[in-house]
Amino acid sequence: MSPNFLSSFAVGTAYPTNYNRARLTMSDLTKMIDKAAQTILKSNYVIALVGAGMSVESGIPPFRGPGGLWTKYGEPDGLSFERFLDDPKVWWESYAKQEGYVKELVETIEAAKPNAAHYALTKLEQLGVLKHIISQNVDNLHVRAGSKELSEIHGNMFKLRCIACHQRYEMDEISKDVLPPHCPCGGLVKTDGVMFGEPIPPRVLDRCQEETERCDCMILIGTSGTVYPAAGFPSTAKYRGATLIEVNPYETPFTNICQIVLRAPAAECFPLVVERIKKLKAR
Ligand code: ZN
Repeated sequence: MSPNFLSSFAVGTAYPTNYNRARLTMSDLTKMIDKAAQTILKSNYVIALVGAGMSVESGIPPFRGPGGLWTKYGEPDGLSFERFLDDPKVWWESYAKQEGYVKELVETIEAAKPNAAHYALTKLEQLGVLKHIISQNVDNLHVRAGSKELSEIHGNMFKLRCIACHQRYEMDEISKDVLPPHCPCGGLVKTDGVMFGEPIPPRVLDRCQEETERCDCMILIGTSGTVYPAAGFPSTAKYRGATLIEVNPYETPFTNICQIVLRAPAAECFPLVVERIKKLKAR
């Protein structure tokens, strides 16, 4: 690992693929998996907070760090939303052409598939154990894996949203014959993915806050704790007495406040947690 790489990772901007595999021994990990399963099962209201690491395990590069889209194409200047508002017609025309990182992002995400951890979360929801997922990812993989109780805090790049009434639409539900598209309420329609400089839509933010305050167990999967407001949810939950479980191959700013840490890729270890829960439930 180059010193460069280390320093970028230290501030949470990289999500490398050549991670140092679990420092725990296999038997330590098995014990932790059992402990996580027991804890989840005895909790009343379990939610998951999911970050980019989960998508990385599905082959989607992170925005920042080696191989990241911003690294290749340059990080947006924080004015994306302002630019959209300045001239939504021009924005939509350029979006329709799908050039640069938009093209690469769409192609990569369309080719990606939910991984075993996405399916394990769906299974946990179907078992009646997991009550909600707050995902920071825009890639639609939770939906494709079948999860229902989901807040996509940064939106979903395959959906549309009205900036006046905040209603979300499927891509083909709103005509794009005339650009920019409009909502039946008269409001301007944009893609649902939250842009730089755009406030999180109030509906989803309120829901995330309610779920955070309600949970007594929060599972943190692949989230590096650098993007707010989601990065604030674990400490809020902890303050209100929730147990925090971290599933991440890397140490994060949350590690110190988590009671249980599974230091391994989510797709490898989280399905084992759910299998264990199934067995314990069947007893
Ligand atoms: Zn509307």
